[in-house]
Amino acid sequence: MCAKYIIVHVYCSTPTINENILEYEKTIRNLPEPEEMVGIFSKKGVLIHEQEGIYIPGIGTVVILPKNVHEKVIGQILTHNHSSDASFSKRDLVEHAYFRFSEMRVVGKSGTFSLSPKESGWPESFEIGEFISQIRSDSEFQSKLNDIQFDPKFCQHSGDINGDMVRIKSHLICEKFSTKCNLNYRASAQTETTEPYIQNWLSYCLQNELE
Ligand SMILES: [Zn+2]
Repeated sequence: MCAKYIIVHVYCSTPTINENILEYEKTIRNLPEPEEMVGIFSKKGVLIHEQEGIYIPGIGTVVILPKNVHEKVIGQILTHNHSSDASFSKRDLVEHAYFRFSEMRVVGKSGTFSLSPKESGWPESFEIGEFISQIRSDSEFQSKLNDIQFDPKFCQHSGDINGDMVRIKSHLICEKFSTKCNLNYRASAQTETTEPYIQNWLSYCLQNELE
């Protein structure tokens, strides 16, 4: 039953994404917790701005773009890493909607996530916060997460149940959010890794995609 909710669409790279961005992502993908780097590129792959996140205990890693770069990053491509390996956070979406990026990407040890607007564009920041809170508190959504967490097959394939649940939850929230807001959302599994727990997560996702 729960297999339907863990589908990860695999893509190697999007045709529009520039090699420079993919190369940059290799350098930040495996940064140790809580290190976070943000790179903002033009559509031609020129690095416009790079910034390190500041870790604040109890809050997490925060990146506040300085005012003097606001204008030049609007409509460009933002990529960053999550050492938790999770998909976009609520803060990512709420705080970055203002910049109307043509694509937002997040990379981790086991995969890459991408969000981009369709013709209707990005929703407003206040709407994003509201939508995500609604998804998180939806009892049906909570039940789906429980189904996954207590599915013997998931437990068998997961080498890190808590970590995998964080990843799955963030992925499912982004999936629902993108549908609600008419955005393109894609997730890909990183296939170059040899770490056992990542392979477990990967094989579980891929196996369920085929079912
Ligand atoms: Zn983030």
